[in-house]
Amino acid sequence: MAFDYAPAPESRAVVDLASSYGLFIGGEFVDGSGSSFKSISPATEEVLAEVAEATEADADKAVAAARRAYARTWSTMPGSERAKYLYRIARIIQERSRELAVLESLDNGKPIREARDVDVPLVAAYFFYYAGWADKLEYAAPSWQPDGSRGSAPAPLGVAAQVIPWNFPLLMLAWKVAPALACGNTVVLKPAETTALTALFFGEICQQADLPPGVVNIITGAGETGRALVAHPDVDKVAFTGSTEVGKEIARAVAGTKKSLTLELGGKAANIVFDDAPIDQAVEGVVNGIFFNQGHVCCAGSRLLVQESVFDDVMTRLKRRMKTLRVGDPLDKNTDVGAINSPQQLAKIQELTAVGEAEGAQRWSAPCDLPDRGYWFAPTVFTEVSQAHRIAREEIFGPVLSVLTFRTPAEAVEKANNTPFGLSAGVWTDKGSLILWMANQLRAGVVWANTFNQFDPTSPFGGYKESGYGREGGRHGLEAYLAH
Ligand code: NAP
Ligand code: MG
Repeated sequence: MAFDYAPAPESRAVVDLASSYGLFIGGEFVDGSGSSFKSISPATEEVLAEVAEATEADADKAVAAARRAYARTWSTMPGSERAKYLYRIARIIQERSRELAVLESLDNGKPIREARDVDVPLVAAYFFYYAGWADKLEYAAPSWQPDGSRGSAPAPLGVAAQVIPWNFPLLMLAWKVAPALACGNTVVLKPAETTALTALFFGEICQQADLPPGVVNIITGAGETGRALVAHPDVDKVAFTGSTEVGKEIARAVAGTKKSLTLELGGKAANIVFDDAPIDQAVEGVVNGIFFNQGHVCCAGSRLLVQESVFDDVMTRLKRRMKTLRVGDPLDKNTDVGAINSPQQLAKIQELTAVGEAEGAQRWSAPCDLPDRGYWFAPTVFTEVSQAHRIAREEIFGPVLSVLTFRTPAEAVEKANNTPFGLSAGVWTDKGSLILWMANQLRAGVVWANTFNQFDPTSPFGGYKESGYGREGGRHGLEAYLAH
């Protein structure tokens, strides 16, 4: 007999939500000059707070504040001093991790278990890591020339405009803000419209850390706010994470200017299971690869490539495992799969899965009771998928897996690389030599072997082809914020 789980809700009382939020400019929360919008909990459709919609004039104010802070304090401060602020921020993130995790789960819909055990600890780790680089930039970007002479020392770029998506609101903030600040740049950050609350909370953390006013500015709003920020003439650097479509638009907007640009875009990763892989472990990795964070993951293993000889075995075990996934209240500590972030994203997932069926793929969804309110999608797998199907080509960005088969390693490589994207890939096999061979053949920025979705601040992350350019994380992540 199977025992059922008792409810284990995390208390939301630790989060002190205001009814409305302004913009964080020049170290203070100020009113925006435009209208406002509502941030809701996607699990309940409850309105959490009213958030200001920044206009072009607000973006201008934020950039001016960042420029002043850049010229007067931040770019001239010794790296060892900048490091102290970053360490302080990292420690405050740890101290306030419970508040941050609950707020992230509420506003985004992700399970508290993920926000608490993955997102927030990584956010602190990225700040600690880049704090350590702030006074060692000489070593990150050595100024020695091949002939032994010395070039110019690494210098910051200036004001960075940073635009981030809603799937990992705090973590994407950390990936952008920490290296920029470590290198001596100041920033104006625009979080996604549906997940602005933890970024605003981060504004409070900057105040608590006594960060000089204007070093970090946060302006909330939708695409128009992002567009105004990116187009601002006094911005030196644009860093964007989001869809390939918007990334292309930003690349066009920045072309011909002196702004430098990094783009972290979409993905359609292949997770490749060979017949000699430890199958239970691989199935666990496949589940983690596509159902972690409701599949709202740019590097999600959304295409499963299974060697034909183990296809039946893998599918049986995968479906059995999917039946045990607990979908529901993100604040319940036993929840594995939370809410879809927005009605727009849910509609996109529904549209693409309907196309999958119409094109002839076989759909199977894990049986589960979905809550009446909020936005939900049951973990779903498609078999009989061909490479031409839209569900094999386009990013669904939801808990939907497309399964294809292969016979030889060469065929696996060909299918894995047959995508306009190139962000990540996974390889499951017992043979070390096959792992190394595959890693060399796969056109993906990250290749995981016998694991998936592993992140570490010391490791660079980024894509090939339509997944963007530039790297975040590691020493490589500093390069995007330094002039040589
Ligand atoms: P999105 O629509 O491209 O939005 C990303 C951000 O850009 C949001 O803050 C958005 O504002 C803003 N924005 C929209 N139009 C803009 C414009 N014309 N100019 C400037 N900013 C603009 O992407 P999304 O749907 O939110 O996020 C999902 C995508 O992000 C997926 O494709 C995923 O693969 C990708 N992603 C990539 C990585 C990576 O590291 N490679 C990491 C995470 C996510 P609003 O949304 O507020 O309107
Ligand atoms: Mg929200």
